[in-house]
Amino acid sequence: CGVFGMIGVADASNFVALGLHALQHRGQEAGGIVSHDPEAGFQSARRFGYVRDNFTSQKVMETLPGELAIGHVRYSTSGSKGPTAIRDVQPFFGEFAMGGAAIAHNGNITNANSLRRELIERGSIFQSSSDSECIIHLMARSLQRTIPERMEDALRRVEGAFSVVAMTRTKLIGVRDPLGVRPLVLGKVGDGWALSSETCALDIIGAEFVREIDPGEMVVITPKGIESHFPFRRQEPRFCIFEHVYFSRPDSILGGRSVYETREAIGRELAKESPVEADLVCPVPDSGTPAAIGFSLESGIPYAMGIIRNQYMGRTFIEPTEQIRNMGVRLKLNVNRALIKDKRVILVDDSVVRGTTSRKIKEMILDAGAKEVHFRIASPPTAWPCFYGVDTPQRDKLLAATMSEEEMRAHLNVDSLKFISLDGLYRAVGEAEGRNKKCPQYCDACFSGEYPVTPADQMDQGFQM
Ligand code: 5GP
Ligand code: SF4
Ligand code: MG
Repeated sequence: CGVFGMIGVADASNFVALGLHALQHRGQEAGGIVSHDPEAGFQSARRFGYVRDNFTSQKVMETLPGELAIGHVRYSTSGSKGPTAIRDVQPFFGEFAMGGAAIAHNGNITNANSLRRELIERGSIFQSSSDSECIIHLMARSLQRTIPERMEDALRRVEGAFSVVAMTRTKLIGVRDPLGVRPLVLGKVGDGWALSSETCALDIIGAEFVREIDPGEMVVITPKGIESHFPFRRQEPRFCIFEHVYFSRPDSILGGRSVYETREAIGRELAKESPVEADLVCPVPDSGTPAAIGFSLESGIPYAMGIIRNQYMGRTFIEPTEQIRNMGVRLKLNVNRALIKDKRVILVDDSVVRGTTSRKIKEMILDAGAKEVHFRIASPPTAWPCFYGVDTPQRDKLLAATMSEEEMRAHLNVDSLKFISLDGLYRAVGEAEGRNKKCPQYCDACFSGEYPVTPADQMDQGFQM
């Protein structure tokens, strides 16, 4: 998901809509904005579909007045079952002591089931099936005096990954979980302040990138300035390495590194680790493009757009049902026959998850007359589900959970299939020595199976680490 908040500018909701539009790649199912204005109070609009279709008309934006607003773009993660209902669309708003608050959450709470059970037993009335709603109820029940303190109280009970943007009647609040699994950045535009999942959304509103919110940090922002707190026990950060590989936009800066440059470096590492003779390097667009460029630069094999992407389709994996995903490949990607015929082609993609995309693409490339197809993948085999906010399927649906690399190659029926090594990936994100085995610098659980936060709800349901 993507979160964005703005304080201290007229019509803050317009800025939020623009920010969310720039974060649309983080969630395409639905979006919402809550604003506050002294006269109108809290106002909210939550809709299915794209930001550009819902939050551009004056009619809608007029209903969201004020100098303070937050928003969210959603895709359902492993916690949720089935398609989203509108009641699950964020931000969530709750009225309780001290005027209430609204929150938008990116990540996934790994103990949400037990928290929910406990809260319901104590009388909380849940409006949604979302894990994020727990935070509002925990805040409402806290005995602390101010809303930021109640939020600290609430989040100390929450396990898992959270980058939260919240608002009271007068304050914009941003928090990252102690491991800093999901990103969150601070920006400044004129007299106003912005919080955003990624820097690309600061660019769109002409805001200056100030800094990242630190892992475990809470910032409380009023037009007068920023207070910073560290409410959690300090831990070594474990940022999601997959944000670098796939999830974030290539024009964003993560941990001081350009995502584009990191992906290009991944491609270079891949070319060094797993070279192969071929005529063309083609990306599976768009997610494989920077890595393919890196592979081509390192290997000297020409880069070509052998697959053309229909710009009017979203990210396939973000469509929650298998059936839509299956169709999605053809709706989204087509082979550029003229380039491919009689060529030995290296295809570069960011990841192999279920293998549906890769299989279809290989068929399309062979139908177009390619002589050889070599897959190079910009991440290690995805053998474990993510419980921290990226929607990987259950373990038995992951190709790499049940097959060796050679079995996957045979299953996809390609001439070769190679994944970047975990150490190679760490080198590409700037860790010259590779992965620190004792204390990994990132979360890489979907590749290593080493979960930095015990996925308590999942283990209750029989998941074995
Ligand atoms: P596959 O066909 O292997 O299931 O899909 C792989 C494609 O889905 C990749 O090209 C990638 O762009 C996209 N994808 C990236 N990350 C994820 C993820 O976390 N989960 C899923 N299901 N797909 C992803
Ligand atoms: Fe990121 Fe993978 Fe960790 Fe999930 S399990 S937070 S996708 S590195
Ligand atoms: Mg892709």
